Amino acid sequence: MGLAPNEREKEMLELEKKIRSCTLCPLYASRKKAVPGEGSLEAEVMFIGEAPGRNEDIQGRPFVGAAGKLLDQLLELAGLRREEVYITNVVKCRPPNNRDPAASEKMACQPYLRRQIEIISPKVIVTLGRHSMMEIFELAGHRATSIMRERGRVRKVRLFGLEVLLMPTLHPAAALYNPRTRKLLEEDFLKLKDLLKVLEKPEESGLERYF
Ligand code: URA
Repeated sequence: MGLAPNEREKEMLELEKKIRSCTLCPLYASRKKAVPGEGSLEAEVMFIGEAPGRNEDIQGRPFVGAAGKLLDQLLELAGLRREEVYITNVVKCRPPNNRDPAASEKMACQPYLRRQIEIISPKVIVTLGRHSMMEIFELAGHRATSIMRERGRVRKVRLFGLEVLLMPTLHPAAALYNPRTRKLLEEDFLKLKDLLKVLEKPEESGLERYF
């Protein structure tokens, strides 16, 4: 079973403190602020992005720039409020010039993501973009094909002993100047809305049709 609410809060505060003072990889030297993640510790849905960008690095909060504005609109489309979900990234510090995070940086940050997943124990994890999808697939012992094949597809996986529904989708930043990508993201978030409705039903009847 999951942690009691007061334990969750205590554990998450401790974890956030560790992340904010982390020096496990070289990204600490160039960051302004580490970005642990934010949202409800009781969240049923957890969103995992890639790494903080410029605005996130300044504010210490995830998805607060242009991609974050789009994420807010997509959440609304799925009938979700930002405060009721949990949002984090694979890597908690901004890579210089927004380059891709290195494998060693992702590995150094992995225990933080793992702990966040354990503390929140969400029912659904939505990965945003290829990097996040690859990381979670690897942790769940699955081999990913391509993001275009996997996006919008729901899988039941075991992650650190927890059973979760995993739905990869595209990264909102990729949709900022691409209406076709935006359309695909909207499709996936509508599917998420549908999935969450099914999860509310007793016995989760109808869930089979997602696999
Ligand atoms: N892109 C990400 O992957 N994460 C953020 O927090 C912001 C932009």
